[in-house]
Amino acid sequence: MAVSSLNHKSLIVHGPILEYILEENAYPKEHEQLKELREITVKKYEKKSVMNVPVDEAQFLSMLLKIMNAKKTMEIGVFTGYSLLATALALPDDGQITAIDLDIEAYETGLPFIQKAGVEHKINFIQSDAFVVLNDLINGEEKLSFDFIFVDAQKEDYMKFHEKVMELVKIGGIIAYDNTLWLGSVAYKQDEYEKHSKMPEPAWRNRDYVIQFNSFLASNPQIESSLLSIGDGLTLCRRLY
Ligand code: SAH
Ligand code: CA
Repeated sequence: MAVSSLNHKSLIVHGPILEYILEENAYPKEHEQLKELREITVKKYEKKSVMNVPVDEAQFLSMLLKIMNAKKTMEIGVFTGYSLLATALALPDDGQITAIDLDIEAYETGLPFIQKAGVEHKINFIQSDAFVVLNDLINGEEKLSFDFIFVDAQKEDYMKFHEKVMELVKIGGIIAYDNTLWLGSVAYKQDEYEKHSKMPEPAWRNRDYVIQFNSFLASNPQIESSLLSIGDGLTLCRRLY
C-alpha cells in the first residue's frame, strides 16, 4: 500500500477514506514520470519525502490550472518537484513557471523526470531565497502578471509571502497555500492531539503560525478564500481587487 506516512498520521481525512481515494482513484491515473519522481524521492529522502504533495492534491491542482487556463505561474518551495512537474504537465506548451527553492540538490533529483516528461522548457528554476526573487519581480515589470502562485515554503513566513505575492498575482488570479491544516493540528489542543497522533515539538510550534495565518485569510476583504481538506490542507485565495 502506497499511502504516505504523512497522511497516515494526519487527522484530516479518515484513514480508510483516504486510502480509497488514493488507491482506487488517484494512483491508477498518476502520470508515469510523476510516479518515478515520487519513488526516487522516497528512496533518497525517506521520511522527508512527505514534503511532496500527495497524488490526489496534485491531480486537483492540475485540473484547477486547466480550468483557469493558467499560463504564467509561480511555485515557492519546490523540493524534488512533484507539484512542479504536475503544474508543468497541466500548463499549455507556452506556459511559464517561475520555480524558487534554496535547495538545488533536491530539484536536480527530480529534474531527469521533468526532462523525460518533455516539460522542462516551461520551467525557470531559480536557486534563491524566495523573498529576494519576489522583491526583484515586484521591482521589475511583473506586478499583477501571474495567473497562479503556489506557496509551499516555510510556514512561519506565509504572512510575509502573502504581502509579496498579492502584488504579483492578477486580479481574479489564484494564490494557493499548502499545509494549512498542518496535519489537522490546527483544530486540536496539544494534549488532545497527542492522544491520536504525535507531532514533534518544533513542528507543533508551526501550528500557531498556521492558525494565525488562516484567521488572517478568513477575514481579509481583498480575497475570496476556500480551505480544502485535501492533502495537508490547501487554501485557495482569489484576488478580488
Ligand atoms: N512543493 C513541493 C514541496 C516543497 S517542500 C511539492 O509539493 O512537491 C518546501 C521547500 O521549501 C523545501 O525544499 C525548502 O528548501 C524550500 N524553502 C524553504 N524556505 C525557503 C525560502 N525562504 N526560499 C525558497 N525556498 C524555501
Ligand atoms: Ca507542502
